[in-house]
Amino acid sequence: MLEKTIEKDFIDDGKIWDLLEDSKNPEPAEVKEIFAKSRAKARLEPEETAKLLQIEDPDLLEEMFALAREIKEDVYGNRIVFFAPLYIGNKCTNNCLYCGFRRDNRAIERKTLTMDELQEEVNVLVNKGHKRLILVYGEHPDYDADFIAETIRVVYDTKAGNGEIRRVNINAAPMDVEGFKKLHEVGIGTFQIFQETYHHETYAKLHPKGTLKSNYQWRLYALDRAMEAGIDDVGIGALFGLYDWKFEVMGLLYHTIHLENTFGGVGPHTISFPRLEPALNTPFIGKAKYRVSDDDFKKLVAIIRLSVPYTGMILTAREKPELRKEVIPLGVSQIDAGSRIGIGGYKKSEMDHIPEREQFQLGDVRSLDEVMREVCKLGCIPSFCTACYRAGRTGDHFMSFAKPGFVHNYCMPNAVLTFKEYLIDYASEETRMAGEKAIEEQLKVFEQQNPKKRQMVEDKLHLIEEGHRD
Ligand code: SAM
Ligand code: SF4
Repeated sequence: MLEKTIEKDFIDDGKIWDLLEDSKNPEPAEVKEIFAKSRAKARLEPEETAKLLQIEDPDLLEEMFALAREIKEDVYGNRIVFFAPLYIGNKCTNNCLYCGFRRDNRAIERKTLTMDELQEEVNVLVNKGHKRLILVYGEHPDYDADFIAETIRVVYDTKAGNGEIRRVNINAAPMDVEGFKKLHEVGIGTFQIFQETYHHETYAKLHPKGTLKSNYQWRLYALDRAMEAGIDDVGIGALFGLYDWKFEVMGLLYHTIHLENTFGGVGPHTISFPRLEPALNTPFIGKAKYRVSDDDFKKLVAIIRLSVPYTGMILTAREKPELRKEVIPLGVSQIDAGSRIGIGGYKKSEMDHIPEREQFQLGDVRSLDEVMREVCKLGCIPSFCTACYRAGRTGDHFMSFAKPGFVHNYCMPNAVLTFKEYLIDYASEETRMAGEKAIEEQLKVFEQQNPKKRQMVEDKLHLIEEGHRD
């Protein structure tokens, strides 16, 4: 499929620019109508998102941010799901002009974890309290579907202390349907592929001809192949800073609509919006004229939240702590913490090793414990819940469950319970105190909703205190 370039894909660059142009200076009345549609949690149409992207009026912007917070709270409750990235290998045959792993960067040491080293990394992560990982790979013949499937198996099979990893997501190069099937068979969680930029010409410039990644359409339709292979949860993303940010938001929306139309209403499970970070020996970074300011970054997060109310949104540790704090309430449902992106980086950091030259620089290098404490202080409940996945509630099942009632009656109690396990098994004293306070506040919310719900959660909390684990 798509070995050859098809004439026209679902991203029409000219049309996106026309829509953005025609949407300048939107009338407050039409903007309010769009807000009402988002409040009713309907996915927006491109014409509507284009108008949100062109809002300049400070009052309307304020209203938009408030609405993003409201939708986030309504759909996801005040919980934040935690995960960690685990870099498996940095060999790469591509030459993406912005990435430290690019083939022509001779300044980094190329390394792939052995299965023993992988177990050691997983050990460190489990002993910090992690339950979800995303494994990351360069694009190289060594990292074929069999190899990736083997790494997933090893991660699931690694037991450490009380814990284990319960959901393994993947960020790797696009595969064919046969390859994706192999990953489906070993129980992959989400397969994530970022289109980097949806703008065809910029894509061609940044991914030199002759490399595997130069085929825009092979990448654009990769998640179709993943879904065809039975992988229900797929993650899309754009690397913000390669091209105009408003264009990329439109690209993400068109991609969402394409997946929904092709797969019976099931869109992407998550959307990521990484910003370009400085990386060693990368010719593009220095002249990145499309760098996204912090203010525009906040806008784009809120606009994605309003455009696709039910899709998970991932904010990574590329961003600095201060900004993460501001952006999380605008719609984010998942964050990573305690992240290391060097190969073997978790074990090395345990040994106080100076980090090696990595793919790019991280903005937030705080420990998981510290970030969890902060998240509590923001009024959120950290969650390690993987119940939906384990119960087979993915893809269309997930969409039908991801309704407010379900989230509040099921996900919020589960967040509290998995957080309690973390507090007992892994947290520092300071985090434990902040965490217990956050749980107490949440129990009051349950009480107001339904006293029986509080009782049910409290009973389970006692069992956890007595040593029971999920
Ligand atoms: N090699 C695979 C690929 O390119 O899809 C997967 C792994 S790649 C390491 C994961 C993501 O890192 C890329 O999709 C890209 O968006 C992101 N990335 C690359 N260079 C970056 C940089 N300088 N700053 C921030 N993110 C970057
Ligand atoms: Fe390789 Fe992925 Fe980096 Fe491109 S972004 S150079 S494909 S690791």
